[in-house]
Amino acid sequence: MSISRRTFFGNATAIPLVSSLAEPEQAARVSRDRLKIVVTGGHPGDPECGCAGTIARYTDLGHDVVLLYLNRGEGFCKGGDPSQCATLRTGEAEKACKILKARARFAGQYDGRAILDNQHYDDFARLLESEKPDVVFAQWPMDQHRDHRALSMLVLDAWLRGGKKPALYFYEVAEDTMMFSPADFVDISNVESRRRAACYAHASQQPDKWYPLQVEITRFRGTQSGYGQAEAFLRHWESKRGVLP
Ligand SMILES: [Zn+2]
Repeated sequence: MSISRRTFFGNATAIPLVSSLAEPEQAARVSRDRLKIVVTGGHPGDPECGCAGTIARYTDLGHDVVLLYLNRGEGFCKGGDPSQCATLRTGEAEKACKILKARARFAGQYDGRAILDNQHYDDFARLLESEKPDVVFAQWPMDQHRDHRALSMLVLDAWLRGGKKPALYFYEVAEDTMMFSPADFVDISNVESRRRAACYAHASQQPDKWYPLQVEITRFRGTQSGYGQAEAFLRHWESKRGVLP
């Protein structure tokens, strides 16, 4: 069966999201219709924490993935001069993107001081729209960190005012996410090493302290979905069904 983007988006019952898109024949067909995926995150490292395996699967299939960070991580970089954190963490984000064959963009806010006002909603919406995404990923809004909550609201606002065009999925980031009940899962068993490398690219964030918990979570999500390891998502219920790899 040929799976074009149009038929995928137009028929919510076409194929379960955890189905066999990874099979070579179907993957090749999906690859010919290149999708633009934007994975947003509050800080450098957040999109990688929640979605690096899924990003690797997308780019392996030939899709175009952008990691859009709300800020450059100005607030914290272990072992670095605080005045240089933005430069250091921008470099780490770009290294992670290289590992995942993705592209980095930055929304220009300041780490720890996320602003939600009309101007910032407008600016973020314009930035997101400029990428013309087919699928957008955002952090789940119930979160312990203000920047994560702000990022989620900025994406939701842009999606609503833009007519809900791209598929919209929410993701989790380990200890910060609260009350998250995912419904869609992506098998990351074969790309876990790249997920790990992308997270460890953020060396200033001391990945040894938090990556083991990441593995516990992806294993737990794998248990829920029948895979070795999985990343978990929740689609906005008014969103069309996008293509998950
Ligand atoms: Zn964060």
